[in-house]
Amino acid sequence: MDDWDVRQQVFTTFAEEGRAPSVAELAVRQGVDEITIRACLMRLHEAHALVLTEYGDAIRMAHPFSAAPMGFVVTADGPYEQRLWWGGCTWDSFGISAALKIDVSVETRCPGCHTPLRMDVGPHQPPEPELTVHIPLPASQWWDDVLLTCSNIRMFCSEEHLAAWADRTDRPIGRALAATTLWNLAQPWYGDRLDTGYRPRPTADLQHLLTDSGLTGPFWQLPD
Ligand SMILES: [Zn+2]
Repeated sequence: MDDWDVRQQVFTTFAEEGRAPSVAELAVRQGVDEITIRACLMRLHEAHALVLTEYGDAIRMAHPFSAAPMGFVVTADGPYEQRLWWGGCTWDSFGISAALKIDVSVETRCPGCHTPLRMDVGPHQPPEPELTVHIPLPASQWWDDVLLTCSNIRMFCSEEHLAAWADRTDRPIGRALAATTLWNLAQPWYGDRLDTGYRPRPTADLQHLLTDSGLTGPFWQLPD
């Protein structure tokens, strides 16, 4: 067993069952003891390959999947109709479609007006162009508190509703993006997460993906 075998099992369980595997389950499946699994999960957490809970005893996120509700519900038809995934944010919700290579329905609420929003999206089906995504923090700070970052990458009906929300809550706007821009970015960013032999991309490659989506300048500069 190496760390990447464990990571692969975590992602496969999320994809197939919509949940995170437990430490005990990973230990039995990998044929090792739980202490070995805990150490492995901590290394994967430090490598940003997944995110552990605050107390380090369970998996909280494996981007684009989340083990707990974060404002986005992702469902699909056909062979996937029994499944439901929690999307970690707008980006992650598009990412679940990209990673699984299936059409999905993403449900959330606009924080500006609380209207339920439903997006039917897929690898070849973009969201409606007037929908607006808020990116709260510059790329250099995304992993300072990744749960906080993801929790605030929300979908709004329009830029006007984002502005109204920012006024009402007295919170600064990081960047407002067309949902289609983030959908475009999610395809290469998340498309390979379930591939056998997946390894994290070097930062320079991720920076290229941002640039290819038109996201350039200091706000989008990833940390070294
Ligand atoms: Zn709204």
